[in-house]
Amino acid sequence: MGVLLDKRDYYEVLGLSREATPEEVKKAFRRLAHKHHPDRNPDDPSAEDRFKEASEAYEVLSDPEKRQRYDRYGHAGLCGTGVRDYSHMGVEDIFSMFSDLFGQDFFGGGRRRGRGADLQTQVELTLHEVATGATRSIEFERTDFCDGCGGTGAAPGSERRGCATCGGYGQVEHSGGFAGLFGRMITACPTCRGRGWMLTKVCDRCRGSGRALKRRVVQVQIPAGIHDGQGVRVRGEGEPASEGTECGDLYCYVRIRAHPFFERHKQDLLCQVPISFTQAALGAVVEVPTLSGKAELRIPAGTQAGAVFRLPGQGLPDVRSGRTGDELVQVTVEIPKKLNRDQEKLLRTFAATEDKAVLPESRGFFEKLKDYLAGKLE
Ligand SMILES: [Zn+2]
Ligand SMILES: [Zn+2]
Repeated sequence: MGVLLDKRDYYEVLGLSREATPEEVKKAFRRLAHKHHPDRNPDDPSAEDRFKEASEAYEVLSDPEKRQRYDRYGHAGLCGTGVRDYSHMGVEDIFSMFSDLFGQDFFGGGRRRGRGADLQTQVELTLHEVATGATRSIEFERTDFCDGCGGTGAAPGSERRGCATCGGYGQVEHSGGFAGLFGRMITACPTCRGRGWMLTKVCDRCRGSGRALKRRVVQVQIPAGIHDGQGVRVRGEGEPASEGTECGDLYCYVRIRAHPFFERHKQDLLCQVPISFTQAALGAVVEVPTLSGKAELRIPAGTQAGAVFRLPGQGLPDVRSGRTGDELVQVTVEIPKKLNRDQEKLLRTFAATEDKAVLPESRGFFEKLKDYLAGKLE
């Protein structure tokens, strides 16, 4: 495709040499994530971009296969390997993706106490669904409250009773003996395991755990204009906490299937269309694909190879503003590989009329060549 984004070298982004070990890659990313975290740089809007740039570099360099391809072929080698487009992801989403790297307390943005684990899943969308938005039914299994006891672990009708060992506090104090050397020593109560209560009769469906594995079906609304790698959060569809009642969230990450014609560039769609050299020279009306079907495109006489034409409003909507992008059609000019005798004759007749002096590109080139051969140019 004609449009290549300017991308910095991943090693340069992370400030590493090409020989960096996986541990050094991890360290460098952690350091940069701290430094460029948007919460720490409220007055510097570019911090977020640098954070995202570092995230992408980390995804590639921390994966042995992607790193090898990048080392051999550069950015172009990563086509089709599923490297995410971080530019449109929320900072929170990126942190939750790399949560194992940052731990739960990184900037306090992780899991809160008394809240269950987040779950994540992935859905694949076509570009067509990106244009319209989509609803996906997601079926998954998660640890949930037991139906027999509603999550308490107690058999129906039975009650919890306060723990006699700790008097309901969940903690016990040791003094004297070895502990006496250090003064007071407080530990979780061994009888009730720190809960402060005991079950009089255990629920037989969950054997007192209060939890059961359950199938869930959740409808997820995916907004139009979403980008590859972005996540949709469904609140409260994660797992319940072991103590406490607040469930984690379900993150649904989007992958966008490659389209036979279109490549996405933000809200615009890029498409290459071949035309013949006579169409380029004489002008023509050609049929081009659009996301919703097809459109007619007028190619003016004298169109050069690589020229780009814009079909306004035929792109994708912006996920926030809803403003629709354009379709950009880049023409490639096909030169016939074989000519029949009549065609060749016609072209030779045409060639005899050709005057290189009136073709601006050629004229410039030949003048430069003359100067070059005369030693005027280095
Ligand atoms: Zn139960
Ligand atoms: Zn106790």
